[in-house]
Amino acid sequence: MSTADGIPFLDLVTPHVELEPELTSVFQQALSTAAFIGGTAVDAFEREFAAFCGTSFCVGVGSGTAALHYAFVAAGIRPGDSVVTVPNTFIATTEAISQAGAFPEFVDIDERTYNMDAAKLRQFLEDRCDTDPRTGRRVSRRTGRTVTAVVPVHLYGQMADMDAILEIAEEHNLIVVEDACQAHGAQYFSARQNGWKNAGAIGKAAAFSFYPGKNLGACGEAGAITTNDEEIARQTKMARDHGQAKKYYHDVEGDNGRLDAIQAGILRIKLQRLAKWNRQRRECAARYEGLLAPLGENVVLPCEPSWSRGVYHLYVIRHTDREGLQNHLGARNISTAIHYPIPLHLQKAYRGLGYREGDFPVTERLAPQLVSLPMYPHLRPEQQRRVAQGVTDFVESKRPSTALTMSAGA
Ligand SMILES: *Cc1c(COP(=O)(O)O)cnc(C)c1O
Repeated sequence: MSTADGIPFLDLVTPHVELEPELTSVFQQALSTAAFIGGTAVDAFEREFAAFCGTSFCVGVGSGTAALHYAFVAAGIRPGDSVVTVPNTFIATTEAISQAGAFPEFVDIDERTYNMDAAKLRQFLEDRCDTDPRTGRRVSRRTGRTVTAVVPVHLYGQMADMDAILEIAEEHNLIVVEDACQAHGAQYFSARQNGWKNAGAIGKAAAFSFYPGKNLGACGEAGAITTNDEEIARQTKMARDHGQAKKYYHDVEGDNGRLDAIQAGILRIKLQRLAKWNRQRRECAARYEGLLAPLGENVVLPCEPSWSRGVYHLYVIRHTDREGLQNHLGARNISTAIHYPIPLHLQKAYRGLGYREGDFPVTERLAPQLVSLPMYPHLRPEQQRRVAQGVTDFVESKRPSTALTMSAGA
């Protein structure tokens, strides 16, 4: 192969070239009206994003982390509670649990979807909790804390198995808040409700991030919560704005967590393209699948169950020599990334939680194998062919000699 250009892991420049005149006009509009905080752009974006998700309400906030925190508090998570999530996620999920005064508790992931394994959630609640005779709620034997909520993460843009999780949550009186920070536009087929539901429209509330690299990204920090619960929306609006509904009349102590108007204006422009961009991501995923499937079991490709329509925030594959694969691609100027190198329960920050190696075997076994290939709407077919060729050459070089001879003869 010639000295081809590098293939970045993520391309945030190309999509903005096409949008530049529209994005610039957002800034000009803000300058000429001095509408920097709140105002029509924020209101309009909230309406439009709620419509996109199919929820009654959307409340724009400063980041996905803030969205998780506000959603947790407004949905009813209280200081001292135990909140169940997965160890294979970005740390913001558990940071927000701690910010709400609660404590993260983990259950392992499904080996194929990399999302919460509902059977493990049930096992945790049934085998490792006792019922508090006063409240009837489940109490974690490990921590002595009442389990009040579960936070499924739709990781990499693939849906967690929400029907199963909702059913268990109902049985055990748990609040369900979705971490939809990687899943704008992903869909789940609910057999319970006999229809496709959008990420962010299934739990009691959900959090989205508009960090620049997400499927819908601001040109800075931004996030939102979505919900069908008017009271959750009202409380979040208060919380993000110093606990006031009317300026300087503070009903509660809040915080400065608003979505700013320039970001809201930018998000409105990009939201119009999101469905198309997600379609392009799905096409890219299908193309990778076609190119890499011939490698068979030597490399594990993303799995999309029939009930999930993912939006491929990331395209994550598995190989037992992940580092070798990354180096091999790197030498061909192809960038990759790891999501995530260290499971949360083994992070230094969470030593105090008392987990040990071996506690979540699936997460721990997969973490050293996961590698994210370049994935974005503007990724070109010839770039994907180069990535796939790189993966193929590496995998075949690791195979017994017959495979080598075959590929050499091809
Ligand atoms: C990005 C992300 C967040 C946090 O969003 P920020 O906007 O960066 O605060 C939370 N959870 C997951 C799974 C994420 O990917």
